[in-house]
Amino acid sequence: MYCVCLTGSGARAGKKLNMSRKKIIIIGGGLSGLSTAWHLQKKGIECRIFEKEREAGGLCRSKQVNDFTFDYDGHLLHFRHEYALRLVKSLLGNNLAEHKRSAWIYCRGRYSRYPFQANLYGLPSSIVKECLFEFIKARRNSCPSDKNTLNFSEWILRTFGRGIARHFMVPYNKKFWTVPLRSLTCEWLDGFIPVPSLHQLIEGTVEESRRLYGYNARFWYPREGGIQALPRAFANSLKYLYTRHEVKNIDMRKKLVILRTGEREPFDYLVSTVPLPEMPRLTGGFPSDIRRLFKKLRWNSIFNFNAGIDRPDASGRHWAYFPEKRISFFRVGFPHNFSAVHPSGMKSSLYAEVAYSREKPLDKRRVVTLIKNDLKRTGILDRYDRICAQDINDIPYGYPIYDAHYARVRGRILSYLENNAVLCRGRYGAWRYMSMEDVVLEGKQTAELISANG
Ligand SMILES: Cc1cc2nc3c(=O)[nH]c(=O)nc-3n(C[C@H](O)[C@H](O)[C@H](O)COP(=O)(O)OP(=O)(O)OC[C@H]3O[C@@H](n4cnc5c(N)ncnc54)[C@H](O)[C@@H]3O)c2cc1C
Repeated sequence: MYCVCLTGSGARAGKKLNMSRKKIIIIGGGLSGLSTAWHLQKKGIECRIFEKEREAGGLCRSKQVNDFTFDYDGHLLHFRHEYALRLVKSLLGNNLAEHKRSAWIYCRGRYSRYPFQANLYGLPSSIVKECLFEFIKARRNSCPSDKNTLNFSEWILRTFGRGIARHFMVPYNKKFWTVPLRSLTCEWLDGFIPVPSLHQLIEGTVEESRRLYGYNARFWYPREGGIQALPRAFANSLKYLYTRHEVKNIDMRKKLVILRTGEREPFDYLVSTVPLPEMPRLTGGFPSDIRRLFKKLRWNSIFNFNAGIDRPDASGRHWAYFPEKRISFFRVGFPHNFSAVHPSGMKSSLYAEVAYSREKPLDKRRVVTLIKNDLKRTGILDRYDRICAQDINDIPYGYPIYDAHYARVRGRILSYLENNAVLCRGRYGAWRYMSMEDVVLEGKQTAELISANG
């Protein structure tokens, strides 16, 4: 096997690879595969990454359109773990800036601060009253219960009451998840939704609160180059990263991966970051009971519209949520407020996100027109604004859906694969709601696991 097209600076085209000890192959050069390889390499363990695209980065790639830098939808870095922050800082050096979030919710023609449940100030008084009274009632009536026994709809009602549920939590989450909320479990919550105390709720009702809530109160982002600056920094220090190398087949019995070119590569450990629903296509080796389980995996997809705007100050916000059904997108973000999106420094940019799924299909011929109209209806664009660059990313795997089958089905599939030396990792390989920080940390753990097993 000869290296043909490598993007890591340590790569040498034409050099015969010489793997020591166990043979480790990683499928996918997204952040997950890159972090795993980086941590393995740091331990002195060689591995090869096969990435099917021209460049590494996966969902964390960026692109240039008419001189604008666009991401594959908004990708902001949030850190809960000191190690991940230090690592990203060391990789990006000066090309990383910290920001205090300016996030908003647009409802009934006006903007209020995010999170809705802690910022009722400024909303129509009838809504404020309903949210406040129902919150108190919910707190009084609900006995403490384990969130793992509730479905997501019940959890919202018991935690926030009917008012906050009706005006934000239910419509927003229905729009985002695209399925009935009673069909979701709460396994994914993990602090994603901030829950204020009654004291904090009242504080945010009588005045505009400056309190920072939730895991995303602060974020980090490269000053320039888009989010791809991060995977690029990982890739630059990797020795054996092969782009344009698609894995077509995995032979679990013989422990071989077969590339599109026909080359066959043996492995002792295979780390797969390929989306889990695609595994039956890659390997014929599943018994029928396991193969059947794949049909139960569900997910939503994200349609992302990026636009470059011909003025410097289109919105001073970082991002805003749109819970109302009548608006096509659920979120719009404004990268010019946290990075250099255009060399002139005189333009703005935005990303709009629309969720869809098998349960809630999207008319892709009409969606861009709808988005553009809604950008005007919500006052984000005015009638004089000119879109001078636009870009579309249809992201097939958005968020795994945590329904009643999720834990059992995922558990059985992953343990079957693991018993066959295939470690499924990353957001779509491990089939979990994971952030960039999560996949970077998981890469470290996977390297430790492999290292501990020799
Ligand atoms: C719409 C959206 C917005 C997001 N926003 C944020 C955010 O703001 N902040 C945040 O922290 N996280 C965000 N995330 C999550 C973040 O994108 C992921 O956690 C992270 O990118 C996952 O990396 P990964 O390597 O697991 O998967 P991927 O990035 O999907 O990488 C998988 C790689 O495998 C390659 N591949 C697949 N099949 C093969 C094959 N057969 N052979 C070879 N290569 C193959 C693919 O080309 C790809 O490069 C967002 C996700 C989405 C969908």
